[in-house]
Amino acid sequence: MTTQPHSRKRVCYYYDSDIGNYYYGQGHPMKPHRIRMTHNLLLNYGLYRKMEIYRPHKATAEEMTKFHSDDYIRFLRSIRPDNMSEYNKQMQRFNVGEDCPVFDGLYEFCQLSAGGSVAAAVKLNKQASEICINWGGGLHHAKKSEASGFCYVNDIVLGILELLKYHQRVLYIDIDVHHGDGVEEAFYTTDRVMTVSFHKYGEYFPGTGDLRDIGAGKGKYYAVNIPLRDGMDDESYEKIFVPIISKVMETFQPSAVVLQCGADSLTGDRLGCFNLTVRGHGKCVEFVKKYNLPFMMVGGGGYTIRNVSRAWTYETSVALGVEIANELPYNDYFEYFGPDFKLHISPSNMANQNTPEYLDKIKTRLFENLRMLPHAPGVQVQAIPEDAINEESDGEDKVDKDDRLPQKDLDKRIVPENEFSDSEDEGEGGRRDNRTYKGRKRPRLEKGIDGKDAAGDDKIKEELKSEKDEKEDGKSSTIDDLKKDTGPTP
Ligand SMILES: [Zn+2]
Repeated sequence: MTTQPHSRKRVCYYYDSDIGNYYYGQGHPMKPHRIRMTHNLLLNYGLYRKMEIYRPHKATAEEMTKFHSDDYIRFLRSIRPDNMSEYNKQMQRFNVGEDCPVFDGLYEFCQLSAGGSVAAAVKLNKQASEICINWGGGLHHAKKSEASGFCYVNDIVLGILELLKYHQRVLYIDIDVHHGDGVEEAFYTTDRVMTVSFHKYGEYFPGTGDLRDIGAGKGKYYAVNIPLRDGMDDESYEKIFVPIISKVMETFQPSAVVLQCGADSLTGDRLGCFNLTVRGHGKCVEFVKKYNLPFMMVGGGGYTIRNVSRAWTYETSVALGVEIANELPYNDYFEYFGPDFKLHISPSNMANQNTPEYLDKIKTRLFENLRMLPHAPGVQVQAIPEDAINEESDGEDKVDKDDRLPQKDLDKRIVPENEFSDSEDEGEGGRRDNRTYKGRKRPRLEKGIDGKDAAGDDKIKEELKSEKDEKEDGKSSTIDDLKKDTGPTP
């Protein structure tokens, strides 16, 4: 392990040894176990010696309702597998049941995920660390009053709200293969948070994230969407990520950054359709880190769990500025990483449907939008509200690093062993599980931080109708041309 002295940062890492025991149910692609695998791998690389490890506090209902509605959080706190039948109506209302199942300890799971991101934000606000990592967070689809895409509580929105107490402008970047719709929606009408999401678009969950969705009201031009096609590889990704983030940094000038590192954009993901390697994915972390801004890294999607743990371990090493060997160290889950037992992975031979022309057109269009921003947005001086976590306790337990090994004894195995396995990721012949995890095209509700709808029902119907008309009368625009470039997606 060698150190690059110029990129050394104080890194805090949030992890609860219970997180890997939460279980969405048999066959469900979301496996919190991947966070424990990541933790175990990075411990065995010795990375724990270079950072402060914290057990996050359990976020309280009061903390969660800084974004979520009271009745939704009350529901999450009450619902259990054994009382579900009494909650039929609310389950429908809050979209809990199918993709977002009720499982044992669901509320606690949300508390830990959110607790880590809020604590990370408080730590950055205090300038007690430069980089904070919460692989248990990144649940970007959760809405104010609705679960979505395996996400119930939006830890990212809660973390950003905390950062906004000290930071006038916060940049959110999302490299999950899915659109970061929950975060975008929360900040759609504000100019204090810019959301930038790179994602597969077209016949894909959650159906939002069109190039033309740019924010509304004061937030116009502060939402940036990069709609991509199947097969994005490292080279194409860098060619779009670097210029866009550079331009965003230059024009928006944030004082803190949150990066959602969803690992379902990796090659061979069970639900994803991109072709990124661990190195290509990690380059985004490296690039953002170079700006030397208070930096929060969170997890997100990622359904081929051996690759999720590879990517997040590597990205932890990038945050720390240390190089780690490609040869994996022995770890509790070593057999998952066969046959090669290496950290880095190779891309597949899938076709990249993102042509250089397509990517150029997107880039040009987004640059035009970014030019509309005032160069340095005005700074308003405000009284700083109280921190979410009080000063003495910090709301977190610092973990004695050497007490952490071995993890195995701490982990209660309450889940059948075979469920930990990655084998169902492949199915027969590399089949992807397409069951219910598909896109639902949903109308955009233009909600602000305060959750008030900017658009009424009628407005949404109109929007949908005009979208339909546009397609039917065959009107051609730059954007339609962009759409045609790569043809229909499966
Ligand atoms: Zn995702």
